Amino acid sequence: AHQKCTLFITLLSGFHALLSRLSGQDDIVVGVPAAGQTLIDDRTLVGHCVNFMPLRGDFSGDPSMAEFLKQMRQTLLDAYDHQNYTYGRLVRKLAIPRDPSRLPLMEVQFNLEKVGTGLEFSGLRVDVDSNPKSFVNFDLFLNVVESDDGLTLDLDYNTALLDESTVARWMDCYESLLVSFAENESEKVSRLSILSASAREYLLYGVNHTDADYARDKCVQQLFEEQAARIPGKVALEFEEQSLTYLQLNERSNQLANYLRKTGVQPGDLVGVYMERSVEMIVALLGSWKAGAAYVPLDPTFPRERLAFVFEDTAVPLILTQARLVSELPTSDARIICMDRDWTAIEKENSANPRLAGDPSLAAYTIYTSGSTGKPKGVVVTQQNLVNLLSSMAKKPGLDENDVLVAVTTISFDIAALEIYLPLITGAKLVFASRLTASDGRQLLSLLTRSGATVMQATPITFRLLLEAGWKGTPKFKALCGGEALNRDLADRILSYDVPLWNMYGPTETTVWSAVSQVLPSEGPVAVGPPIDNTQFYVLDSNGQPVPIGVPGELYIGGEGVAHGYYKRPELTAERFVQDPFRATSGARMYRTGDLVRRLPEGDFEFLGRLDGQIKLRGFRIELGEIECALALHPSINQAVVVVREDVPGDKRLVAYLLPNMGGIPAAGQLRTFLLTKLPDYMVPAGFITIPAIPLTPNGKVDRKALPAPDWARQSRATPYAEPRNAAEKQMADIWAEVLRVERVGVNDNLFELGADSLHVFQIVARANKAGLDVKPRQILQFRTISGILAELDTTRGIVGSQAPVLAPVSRSRYRLVR
Ligand code: AMP
Repeated sequence: AHQKCTLFITLLSGFHALLSRLSGQDDIVVGVPAAGQTLIDDRTLVGHCVNFMPLRGDFSGDPSMAEFLKQMRQTLLDAYDHQNYTYGRLVRKLAIPRDPSRLPLMEVQFNLEKVGTGLEFSGLRVDVDSNPKSFVNFDLFLNVVESDDGLTLDLDYNTALLDESTVARWMDCYESLLVSFAENESEKVSRLSILSASAREYLLYGVNHTDADYARDKCVQQLFEEQAARIPGKVALEFEEQSLTYLQLNERSNQLANYLRKTGVQPGDLVGVYMERSVEMIVALLGSWKAGAAYVPLDPTFPRERLAFVFEDTAVPLILTQARLVSELPTSDARIICMDRDWTAIEKENSANPRLAGDPSLAAYTIYTSGSTGKPKGVVVTQQNLVNLLSSMAKKPGLDENDVLVAVTTISFDIAALEIYLPLITGAKLVFASRLTASDGRQLLSLLTRSGATVMQATPITFRLLLEAGWKGTPKFKALCGGEALNRDLADRILSYDVPLWNMYGPTETTVWSAVSQVLPSEGPVAVGPPIDNTQFYVLDSNGQPVPIGVPGELYIGGEGVAHGYYKRPELTAERFVQDPFRATSGARMYRTGDLVRRLPEGDFEFLGRLDGQIKLRGFRIELGEIECALALHPSINQAVVVVREDVPGDKRLVAYLLPNMGGIPAAGQLRTFLLTKLPDYMVPAGFITIPAIPLTPNGKVDRKALPAPDWARQSRATPYAEPRNAAEKQMADIWAEVLRVERVGVNDNLFELGADSLHVFQIVARANKAGLDVKPRQILQFRTISGILAELDTTRGIVGSQAPVLAPVSRSRYRLVR
């Protein structure tokens, strides 16, 4: 009444507001019936002559409810002025493109009906009853019935789109919104509460009762030491032909720890690990911890510039490496210890557990991830973060001493922490795959079989590689898939072999995994599970308030997994690691993931995408901004916009759109080479497209959707087309064309100028192998043209004949697939 509005306008505006809040849209159209009698100018005609007036509500200026009521009153008055203009005429006149699956202009209808009061006919008693309908025209029709008993909400809905529990929830939200408005008339629509106290309670705490005990006072290496004492003779680690028992692995890492302590390493120090996958690598990791240090993984496949940045950022004083890698290290003041060359000295150290009280609040590792402003950022994870994760993982998905886990992930990706330490603290066997094996489907398949693996954790791409190589599951095998959205088609393929499959979700900033759930055969997107032990999930709107079930919001993660923060980046840390207002514990923090999710009625979550320019490509976390910054350093490039495109389903490719400076843009191959000096190869776009201007949206942002689809066939190439000269070349050219979806491939065409990326390389290898061409990924990566690759195949065959060993010594390529 304060707003001088009728009940009708108030309820209608509230309904508009509800739809805006539920959909996250600021332009909402609701149809309202007008008595059609005026149309034929006969007000006495009895009957249902309804015309629908579409009423548009505009929430774009973040109005208060009072302002919106005013707006709606005006809209309604205007609409009544023109009520003779029928809905049918309007739709025809507007010539809106028609979609047979939906009504034009409005899909939702609202009505207020008065019954019971004032209906009097002389001599007649009136009883009003509802008359349920079997069919309605709109997807949603809210009929509010006003009677002596109050208001009744009567909602019809399209059962093909919605279910009863959903619309019942919406009506609760509607009621809460109206109450919230009544309590505070000047509140902005975006801030009105649409949750009842009990719904809010459920959303904030329902799935978040995850309290569980774990060894809060211990570090990971101490849990490993306990196993070493319990089962000293059991095999802990296997790498190719080598294996170490728990006792041996513990003793070696103790020797290293004692050596490090002698060289001056103090608790809290940082140690760089620049090594190839090997037994020594595991010793280096455990040894650093046992000396009280944290490690920073330095990947030998990364370009020098990137490594140099990490060296500088961390000022790491000590590097553990291998003799053959020393010459590749960027220059720095760091002390260098070679785990192979210096081992005779290290071996002289005491092999007993160092007498050093483990401090779980110390950092365990600092892992660098892509940074949107052009430089990677280090995430500092503590021992306690890790112990919580591992304890939870030991229960679910579960691991015990009968398990054999094949570890495939590079240690510069945090999920490697589960693969390495979960077996070692549960008494299981860790089979550490070499980089080559981990990135080659056939070799990985053979390792899984040979080692009797019972568990493997990997990103979806590795499971795809395995399936391409003919994997059909193995008895007692459990697949843990994560790091990127798990598509239903992949899940179904894995499940079809009766392999138990788990979807693992989590950012580096909340320690490896924050939610896990077993995937069951079903339809629709694979859900992200409820939070793991001692972890809280909140789905919040832009005002930091919980959103109802089914409504998209940003995922915030609280609890024991929340990392220490970004290394030496206090502002960025403060921006992403914020106070958790929903926990009573003082100092509790939560991490803003930037992931858009919605809560499902069953208590798990659906991943909907990102709220920013971070993407996942073949498991790798990439900030598009970082690639753009790197490209902008090229003298001929004025501005670059990078997007990930999926023009063909399942084939995601990075594409760079380039605005040139004066003069032209170099060929794709040259740009690729330029970028490889700055970025890891998975961040190098498959396509480089020159555009005359960057398309902008009306409010001046880059309009990524308006960027043209690349024409791969026309991408600038350095070499003219050369026809295949023999059967093998023809076969290979056909395979390339098929995988890359281009019309024709010349034998001198550079693979990467045809739009290929490292995934395509594997697809080509798989198909070529099937067709009898025994080509390896590294050969393709090294030679890049069909003529070059086939010439190489001829030479190797000539030298070693058919006896070629599976593991020929290879030059280290810049190639890396599994992180
Ligand atoms: P990272 O820090 O590299 O582990 O990347 C974390 C991001 O990867 C998350 O914020 C998500 O965007 C995405 N992600 C990880 N696991 C999943 C998953 N199971 N489903 C969907 N997205 C995932």
